[in-house]
Amino acid sequence: MKKEVLLLGSTGSIGTQTVDVLKKHADRFSVRGLSCRGDVETLYRQANELHPEFVAAEAPLDPERLPKGTEIFTGADAAERLAEAADADVTVLAISGYAALRPLLAAIKHGRRIAIANKESLVCGGRLVDAALSAYGAELLPIDSEQSAIFQALQNGRRDEVKRLILTASGGPFFRKTRGELQDVSLSDALNHPTWKMGKKITLDSATLFNKGLEIIEASRLFHFGAEQISALIHPQSIVHSMVEYRDGTIMANLSKPDMRLPIQYALTYPERTESLCEPLKLELNHPLEFYPVDPERFPAIRMAYDALRADGVMPTVYNGANERAAELYFAGRIGFTDIEDCVEAALNAIENRPADSVDAIAAADAAARYAVDRHAGKKQ
Ligand code: MG
Repeated sequence: MKKEVLLLGSTGSIGTQTVDVLKKHADRFSVRGLSCRGDVETLYRQANELHPEFVAAEAPLDPERLPKGTEIFTGADAAERLAEAADADVTVLAISGYAALRPLLAAIKHGRRIAIANKESLVCGGRLVDAALSAYGAELLPIDSEQSAIFQALQNGRRDEVKRLILTASGGPFFRKTRGELQDVSLSDALNHPTWKMGKKITLDSATLFNKGLEIIEASRLFHFGAEQISALIHPQSIVHSMVEYRDGTIMANLSKPDMRLPIQYALTYPERTESLCEPLKLELNHPLEFYPVDPERFPAIRMAYDALRADGVMPTVYNGANERAAELYFAGRIGFTDIEDCVEAALNAIENRPADSVDAIAAADAAARYAVDRHAGKKQ
């Protein structure tokens, strides 16, 4: 029997790589549905290749360009309605940003497997997502390369034997620059990631280290360890994807070439492993594997992530929402690179914490964070 896969966010970087994996293993998987925001041309192409039962897009869709009989959802909440309508053996959540929270909660209600590439929904959803997972018996499997590495390394011991999780960070393109030199880095420098080919927002987040900050919170959400048991390490080669240190001093690490198609496939086939599209790693050709400490003063995104995680409630949502908004302003040329950190700091200081006990409370905190960033950026101009 083929596994049915629902792919939410099929046209982005993770979405298209998931399509590659599904095509490679067409004997194992069939596609139940695809969704995108606005890249409808890619969606038409994918639908005509993969013949899903459902497609969804925020933008309008032309039924003539889709295989006959395809059911269509459109509008701002199209992905959420698709997630409600289509239960699949595996739902891949590859939508980017906070917008994935409602589709995630809808998908959980089917009580099946969710392979999650989106970290923002976990960071913001927190206990709400946990409560829904246990209420509906759904299973969450990480696609994010670091979290997939930790998920695999955790299979080597008991939970109470774990000393700490060690997330690796490439350090991004500016790892060797001083804070002073960061003032005038250009947008194209920020988008030139040394090891991974990814979407624009996550590439920027890798340069500021907000991506690692989000992953510190994401790891806590996924594996239920507190801030004191989660650490980060700079590893510029992106070969060691993350590690788990056990209390006897053993460190279990996960190594491969940086290729997202591997963790995507593992989340789809788990607990099985099969041939993948990822080129094998030849360690003898990969020259030194380096590791450096992360300096939380050099990278305020890390310090603020720990503060937000310890505070919990809506503070992780504020951290994420402020960073999403600041990234938009940076892409629009309205603020500079180091202003991103200032804007997030301003939002974290401006907003009072409260419990993240409903989608409305989380949405309100997300909106307040974006507003606080706009105010702070406005003052600077
Ligand atoms: Mg990652």
